[in-house]
Amino acid sequence: MYDALVIGGGVSGLYAAYLLRQAGLSVEVLEARDRLGGRLHTVYTPDGHPVDLGGQWVGPQHTRVLRWVEAHRIPLHRTHTAGKNLLILPGGRMRSYQGTIPRLPVGALLDLGWGLERFKRMAKQVSVTHPWHLTRPAWEEETLAAWMRRQFRSELARQTFSVGLATVLGCEPEEVSLWHTLFYVQSAGSLEALIETEGGAQERKFTQGAASLVASIAEKVPYRLLTPVQRVTWGPGGVQVSVASGEKLAARSLIVAIPPALQLRIEWDPPLPPLYAQLSQRMPMGSVTKVVAIYDKPYWREKGLSGHVLRLEGALRLTFDTSPPDGSYGQITGFAVGHLARSLLHLSPDERLAFFQREMEGLFGRAPRWLYQKTWADEPYSGGCYVGFFGPGGWRYVGRALREPLPPIYWAGTERATTWMGYMEGAFAAAEAAVQSLGVRVSP
Ligand SMILES: Cc1cc2nc3c(=O)[nH]c(=O)nc-3n(C[C@H](O)[C@H](O)[C@H](O)COP(=O)(O)OP(=O)(O)OC[C@H]3O[C@@H](n4cnc5c(N)ncnc54)[C@H](O)[C@@H]3O)c2cc1C
Repeated sequence: MYDALVIGGGVSGLYAAYLLRQAGLSVEVLEARDRLGGRLHTVYTPDGHPVDLGGQWVGPQHTRVLRWVEAHRIPLHRTHTAGKNLLILPGGRMRSYQGTIPRLPVGALLDLGWGLERFKRMAKQVSVTHPWHLTRPAWEEETLAAWMRRQFRSELARQTFSVGLATVLGCEPEEVSLWHTLFYVQSAGSLEALIETEGGAQERKFTQGAASLVASIAEKVPYRLLTPVQRVTWGPGGVQVSVASGEKLAARSLIVAIPPALQLRIEWDPPLPPLYAQLSQRMPMGSVTKVVAIYDKPYWREKGLSGHVLRLEGALRLTFDTSPPDGSYGQITGFAVGHLARSLLHLSPDERLAFFQREMEGLFGRAPRWLYQKTWADEPYSGGCYVGFFGPGGWRYVGRALREPLPPIYWAGTERATTWMGYMEGAFAAAEAAVQSLGVRVSP
């Protein structure tokens, strides 16, 4: 009989287990894959350079992650931003710009600026702790796309806003509710914190890959790999957890640290209450393919370019320079999001790679030395990425089931967070909250 079992060896499950161990409780993490880290996944080039195919960046507001990183001396470096960014307009016309806001024609720029200001003011009206309390019910009834159509007069402003928000959320503006988008922004503290590189969520990167964060927690907690949880029997006395090998494990409490969309793949006995079953069906995962190209050197820097490209058409719409700090080789990271990512799902991974090879060559003018693509919809134990999201009515009708425990079951994972939902910081914060609701004092 464990004090607690944890389903899911992503950073949230691992950190929850660490906190429970700190409090002297017996705990074990059960992980379905043959690796830990979940949505953090570092692979290595043939010459040993880390490539993050999942989460990679940490911002100055990610206080829990940074506290851990500092305490464990995990190296981070700043994302390269020097040089000119490129905006590629529909039809292929190019404009260079500095900073975050692209240099649109003046009318479109004013329209975008006005829309951004209004959007930021609206986000302040959402309570991150009780987003199901609707101060503006109409914003929960419509999609982000519907609001954008009303707000923007300029098509260019609308497209720019759309690419930015879709890349942040990992889904299309017509899929996500306006209210959820505002919640997501508010959970990060501000829109700037979400979208900025310097001073925002993209500011720093793990020099040895995000695997260094995962390993630093994993060495402090017991875990089992290749142990998908298939069935949970639960009641006032605790839980009995059946894993794929047929083994049954018992615990007084259970922390579930998997995306809500995967919750119903576990058989619950008795079944989860209907609100929780609906949640699992009403919070789909986003659709993102992450593409990483490796070059012998960051040659774009010699041309005065930053490697940051915003494109209003095409599959890869946003790229960043993610080369190492010494520039000893070049690395460009790009994202294909929403319908664009889904439109490639019928292709095999090799065919997708060939597709992105052409996209990268078209954008950067050279064939990369190595190219990686990871389509997270391919991963049965993620189901997509970066994070689950709500369409209209999601927060209102099923949102509270994200966080309300069903003792002896407690919920962790980044989707449950009141702060930085969708990020590693949210995964840490949700782990803390789950452990606290179990009645354990958190001393990180
Ligand atoms: C492409 C991409 C880019 C991203 N970029 C960033 C970024 O730059 N910065 C940032 O902070 N965040 C980023 N994120 C988000 C970040 O990776 C996640 O928020 C975070 O890793 C989520 O951690 P988690 O523990 O909540 O969930 P997960 O990492 O999804 O962990 C859940 C775990 O549960 C396991 N599991 C599922 N079902 C079962 C089962 N039945 N039995 C046992 N185990 C099970 C899974 O295998 C997985 O390991 C990105 C994510 C992706 C995919």
